[in-house]
Amino acid sequence: MLVVKKFGGSSVANKERIFNVARRCIEDYRAGYDVVVVLSAMGDATDELLALAGTINPKAKKRELDMLLTTGEQVSVSLMAMAMQSLDVPAVSLNAFQVRMHSTSRYGNARFKRVETERILHELDSRKIVIVTGFQGVNKYDDVTTLGRGGSDTTAVALAAALHADRCEIYTDVDGVYTADPRVVRNARKIDTITYDEMLELASLGAKVLHNRSVEMAKKYNVELVVRSSLNRSEGTVVKEAKRMEKLLVTGVAADKNTARISVIGVVDKPGIAFRIFDTLAKNNINVDIILQSVGREGTKDISFTVASDDLGEAIRILEENKERLTIQEVTWNEDVAKLSVVGAGMMSNPGVAAKMFESLYNSRININMISTSEIRITVLVPKNEIDKAMNAVHDGFAMSD
Ligand code: ADP
Ligand code: ASP
Ligand code: MG
Repeated sequence: MLVVKKFGGSSVANKERIFNVARRCIEDYRAGYDVVVVLSAMGDATDELLALAGTINPKAKKRELDMLLTTGEQVSVSLMAMAMQSLDVPAVSLNAFQVRMHSTSRYGNARFKRVETERILHELDSRKIVIVTGFQGVNKYDDVTTLGRGGSDTTAVALAAALHADRCEIYTDVDGVYTADPRVVRNARKIDTITYDEMLELASLGAKVLHNRSVEMAKKYNVELVVRSSLNRSEGTVVKEAKRMEKLLVTGVAADKNTARISVIGVVDKPGIAFRIFDTLAKNNINVDIILQSVGREGTKDISFTVASDDLGEAIRILEENKERLTIQEVTWNEDVAKLSVVGAGMMSNPGVAAKMFESLYNSRININMISTSEIRITVLVPKNEIDKAMNAVHDGFAMSD
């Protein structure tokens, strides 16, 4: 039996927590399991490294940033191996290069292509606990890459899939997946079982408890996940392919503060302009989310859309550079916005969900900036400083209970 256990940054933030994790892993080892451990960097180490880089060169190349950020995970895995060895348990730490976790070339946002298992299996054969760096890969140039923030979950799932693990456990600082971020929403409730699709929506819309690509991969390779706390023994949440007799009306509420709104004002109102604007952004790797187009007036129209906060500067630069070709009169933007989404597969057949959401926001006097809907989610843009209030209002409006 093989188990992959992933521990996030707060679970290994200091010496006591490192030993706590070491002991939990050793329990499984002593019970006869082959144990593969995936770790994130300690505490806020990744943020601190990023801030440090910013003081040296705010426009640092992504290759160098990856070289820097991957050190965070290397610190935690080596310390973990030392901790286990001090408890007389054989352990070995490995980075992505040593395992050979092959990724695409894209620094800062690489994806796994293939994961080799030989080295890990060899170490497991000699009854060692194998501790692997999360969040990193190696590209075709033999450079280290990172998978995007929160990517250690994806490392764990990739290894669980490649090694055909019997269990994949994601340990974090909350007891499982909740109907909303339990640090923000007082009445958030722990979910016992959630389907891959529901979890994928929540993760993609800002519930950072799981990296969205880890859920995508878990679904693809049918890896059942358990999300649970590293600090207590409560049962956690199972993420799996589950059949529900009837789809849940609303599974949960998610918020994403990493967003900004851009408006292009006065573009010519004729076919092909929207295509040119969004094609230009796409060719520059800028992902666009909610899009809203105003009714045309005097042959022109305005188009507003959202981008990730990190892409805002670049998106504005590109639009300004191409202003004439895209017939833009003015580019404006607003960083003071956040996305709030309700997710639930049952919405499809229930027309009242949007109205209920808007009513809850209205009751809290929160203004809605933009709206976007799909069959199984509704997303609105609200002022960033009101997002926590909005999340509580909408969550409680649906009174999510069993
Ligand atoms: P780790 O370092 O263990 O990967 P993260 O900080 O990435 O932990 O993710 C855990 C955090 O996700 C929690 O502390 C919680 O505040 C937040 N979170 C957001 N939405 C949810 C949700 N729906 N359920 C549980 N936690 C959530
Ligand atoms: N240490 C990385 C981050 O902070 C990866 C992770 O925690 O999953 O984003
Ligand atoms: Mg995380």
